[in-house]
Amino acid sequence: MFLKPCLGALCAALLTAAAGCASVSGEPPGARAKAGAPSPGVARPDAVEASPRHVVRPAAPGAGKAAPATGPRFEYLYLPPLSPDLQTIYERVREADLLRRLPAVQALDGMFALPRRLRYITAECGEFGAFYQPGAAEVVLCYETLRTLYERGQERQRVLGLVGDDHPLRYVRASVRFMVLHETGHALVDLLDLPVTGRQEDAVDQLAAILMLRFAELDETPEEVIENLRLAANWLLSDSTGAYNLDAYAASHALGEQRYFNLQCLIYGTDPERFAGMVAARDLTPGRAAGCEREMRLVSRAWLRLLLPHLSPGYEAYGEEARRYLDSGVPAGRSAAMH
Ligand SMILES: [Zn+2]
Repeated sequence: MFLKPCLGALCAALLTAAAGCASVSGEPPGARAKAGAPSPGVARPDAVEASPRHVVRPAAPGAGKAAPATGPRFEYLYLPPLSPDLQTIYERVREADLLRRLPAVQALDGMFALPRRLRYITAECGEFGAFYQPGAAEVVLCYETLRTLYERGQERQRVLGLVGDDHPLRYVRASVRFMVLHETGHALVDLLDLPVTGRQEDAVDQLAAILMLRFAELDETPEEVIENLRLAANWLLSDSTGAYNLDAYAASHALGEQRYFNLQCLIYGTDPERFAGMVAARDLTPGRAAGCEREMRLVSRAWLRLLLPHLSPGYEAYGEEARRYLDSGVPAGRSAAMH
């Protein structure tokens, strides 16, 4: 049951939620969303300081020329729920314009030359989740997801004995943010017709992490990005039982524990020296950690090589890092054995 005081706190957070929400998803098959009126265009975030970890930026207009065209702008839609107990969440989400204000979504809006517009929707789904609908080109975040994540954030706060009131809210924001980027990954694969070998669910988990860690300019410190990713990774363990049936082993998603360690590996791989404590804390095994820097490099390079050719004229890849990823040379560490 979702208690009223918690709902109020959640809604307060959503109202001030410039700092990213997201989530990973189960993509409920029965969930649905309706198309709606397009939302007005979104201003590109400006005054964001470039950092070496970023590889894409808005292209500067030539002297005396208009700014180069961006890709089709995203649309945002908040559908009213049928259930009275989701009404307040809906109102607050709509009032906060939550989806439009997710930092990475803002950063990606207009970045790619998509063949059609991509729409972000919040809706009542009848179950927890978020999903991408290819036919309609819509990323849907369910109101039930916001409620459940908040409850899990509260539980985590209780179990860990964390002081202060903001942990459940930060947990919701971080998880929602990763979930929406995961679904955005499915959308980019579909709309840009990107080739993906292997399991697409794993690939878009990687992409969500890379989008947060390395790709777009976000008005956040690296520490904030890492903290958000680590909270999102924790959510992947929320249904962990350690014992699974054949359905779980055969599912399109990897087990939550595996998704957790995959994400931890990418975080660790950005700077093994800085995150050495993750191995000591058993957030990673020493065996996996040894290859994470290389894994992060290879995964980043693969996604950048897939995505950069689809930048709209209004954006450009820049810097040594982009050149390195676009270079056809052999990335360092390629001589390591594959098993
Ligand atoms: Zn997925």
